[in-house]
Amino acid sequence: MNEDIPRRGLMLVLSSPSGAGKTTLSRRLLEADGNIRLSVSATTRPMRPGEVHGKDYHFISAEEFAAWVAEGKFLEHAQVFGNRYGTPSHLVNDALVAGRDVLFDIDWQGTQQLKEKMRDDLVSIFILPPSHAELERRLRTRALDSEETVQKRMAKASDEISHWAEYDYVIVNTDLDKALADIQAILNAERLKRSRQTGISAFVNSLV
Ligand code: 5GP
Repeated sequence: MNEDIPRRGLMLVLSSPSGAGKTTLSRRLLEADGNIRLSVSATTRPMRPGEVHGKDYHFISAEEFAAWVAEGKFLEHAQVFGNRYGTPSHLVNDALVAGRDVLFDIDWQGTQQLKEKMRDDLVSIFILPPSHAELERRLRTRALDSEETVQKRMAKASDEISHWAEYDYVIVNTDLDKALADIQAILNAERLKRSRQTGISAFVNSLV
């Protein structure tokens, strides 16, 4: 990244079936890179142990969610596993204009909606598990959900995976460090795109 040259931020979307390691990769990316922030979604699903309101999600009621939809507060929203999830729009535009990147941990439905609205700002990555057996193992060792939910998620995984080809990049998460390095390489390259370096003309003019 050319630190001193003004640029427009980008929207980095990570999608995957549950259990492919996306949450860990998001957390590691956010820790390693000070110029990208997580878009905190709103959801109607119950809070899990260890989750923090306002950090992991804005946990809101179905009534509140419906009101936010009616007020146009979401950039995108979708129903996932019987719960509603949505991306609040208010912080995204400010971040992009200020040259800060925004990370989205959202599903394929949300990605499609963002693509329709903000194609030029969007960089989308699909994370795949290394194998079916490993996906099932990861879902079981997470132990955050009931057996019924695990079964439901396994069934949904193939549905989610069927959308892989709608993404700009695809990463197989065999090794966490390698997958993180791949995401960082994509992010760095996308930051250097000429179209995002809004201050580059002025800089070039100063050279000649
Ligand atoms: P979880 O309940 O396990 O945190 O998330 C379930 C799924 O919902 C994940 O695939 C996650 O990416 C997706 N998700 C989380 N927030 C949003 C959102 O704001 N919009 C959409 N479309 N999907 C979301």
